[in-house]
Amino acid sequence: MAKRKKGEDKDMGKVAIYPGSFDPITYGHIDVVERALEIFDKVIIAIAENEEKRPLFSVEDRLQMVKAFFKDTPKVLVDSFKGLLVDYVAKTNAIVILRGLRATSDFEYEFHMASMNRSLNTHLDTLFMMTSKDYFFVSSRTIKEVARLGGGVEGLVPDLVVSRLKEKFKLPVTKKKQIGWDD
Ligand code: ADP
Repeated sequence: MAKRKKGEDKDMGKVAIYPGSFDPITYGHIDVVERALEIFDKVIIAIAENEEKRPLFSVEDRLQMVKAFFKDTPKVLVDSFKGLLVDYVAKTNAIVILRGLRATSDFEYEFHMASMNRSLNTHLDTLFMMTSKDYFFVSSRTIKEVARLGGGVEGLVPDLVVSRLKEKFKLPVTKKKQIGWDD
């Protein structure tokens, strides 16, 4: 009997794992997932419970925001994991780690991570998807910075994320200050 290949489970088809902090999820991430669904039958979004990164949102909040966005997309599964990614991947039937690439600045870090994961598990490949022109400047970090300073991030993150960011960064209402020479 032919041995079924890992990642080609009868029920799941070809599965990719998209790991990351998703603190919070942006349309840059979502664009990568939607394009990956053209290639894979299922994408597992795996949210890293990485407290050293001091995330703004708890893992429960991040899970909730991602699940809410993909609630009508059965091809997307959302989960969280602790510890080594390769150990988590081994518990699933994924064949590939999916990551996004923006500028060259992403490359070095991603190259090291992909090489390390491959040295930990020689069968595990990382597939990179280039960012889209609409989202090349979007990162969770810049979204948080802009939102913290009261800037609008509508259209760059889902509406639920916009409102969660507003709740997090409730800025005190300050009186308008007239800027002039004789202050
Ligand atoms: P991590 O902390 O693991 O880098 P992130 O949530 O910041 O987690 O990013 C997860 C993955 O998504 C990374 O591979 C990152 O390069 C990619 N990514 C983030 N934003 C974008 C974007 N705008 N376009 C394409 N890829 C992106």
